[in-house]
Amino acid sequence: MLRRILIAIALVLLIGAGTAYAQRDELLGWAIRQRLADGPDTGFAKDHDGIKVLICGTGSPEVSSARAQACTLVAAGGRLFLFDAGDGALRSLSASRIPVNDIERVFVTHFHSDHFNDLGALINAGWIWGRTTPLEVQGPQGLAQVIAGFDAVYALDEGYRSANMPHLAERRAVARAVPLEIAFPDGARTERVYDKDGVTIDAALVAHDPVRPALGYVLRYKGRKLFISGDTEVSPVNLPAMKGADMVVHESYASHMVRRAIPQMKAMGMDFHARVAERTIPYHADNIALAKQAQAAGVKHLVLTHLIPYPENMVVRAMYTEGMGEHFKGQLTVAEDGIVLAF
Ligand SMILES: [Zn+2]
Ligand SMILES: [Zn+2]
Repeated sequence: MLRRILIAIALVLLIGAGTAYAQRDELLGWAIRQRLADGPDTGFAKDHDGIKVLICGTGSPEVSSARAQACTLVAAGGRLFLFDAGDGALRSLSASRIPVNDIERVFVTHFHSDHFNDLGALINAGWIWGRTTPLEVQGPQGLAQVIAGFDAVYALDEGYRSANMPHLAERRAVARAVPLEIAFPDGARTERVYDKDGVTIDAALVAHDPVRPALGYVLRYKGRKLFISGDTEVSPVNLPAMKGADMVVHESYASHMVRRAIPQMKAMGMDFHARVAERTIPYHADNIALAKQAQAAGVKHLVLTHLIPYPENMVVRAMYTEGMGEHFKGQLTVAEDGIVLAF
């Protein structure tokens, strides 16, 4: 009996394989059509009448295969804006099927490399993959120097591809990055940098010494307010930007855990790492201080990103936000790469 069943199964498999072989051209054609149809999600910017946020990178300078570095994509009024493009940002945006050539403007918070490592790749990929307009990149003073550096780094690549593909050569002049450096009038801490069709974006000076200027951004649309902190310690200078925000996407630093790790690093001979940890504590946002400030500012939803240390296992995850709930009564989210939040 068993033998008969096995023979029957083998026959079915053989017939199936034979049919697939005979139809291989049709199958290949189908697979190609599926692959080509599986393009970017052009509805992402349009299917919500408010503000939509994709956390495309929750990483920090520590290299991680699981997390892209700083990357937050915002859709408002049918437009796409990208805030920072750290390493892995492009891959992460692609994983979420974001049409990167539709990004209207990239905003850079500051020039620590984990916030712009993928900016050159983003500019270059836009040119290669059909961008027909310049990419506006806005950020602190120093931006023009960074963009000029990327132009120099990609010059050979552009030359080779242009020689091979005339349609790329034609676009070389237009599909470039245009640096828009932000200057603050004397004494001002905020500056409106975008205002179109009901979407406004203000740059705000934050506290990340010795990085100066370091910026956060406030986006408003249809009565809703979003603050993206960039890298900053918890400081009263950020209060106006946070005040009454529906959502704050904030860098996060579990200093109670890092403080406990430092003596262990030293005991294990990891002096270099211990010194890095000691030096990063003062210029990042301690989770408890952040919870207090978010409560004082009346923030509705606090989203933690730029996570240090990475909450990769259950123990760290459980301890990461320890104590924050005592001070902050709003909604709290520890972000993961790829989550989408709308309000
Ligand atoms: Zn950073
Ligand atoms: Zn930084």
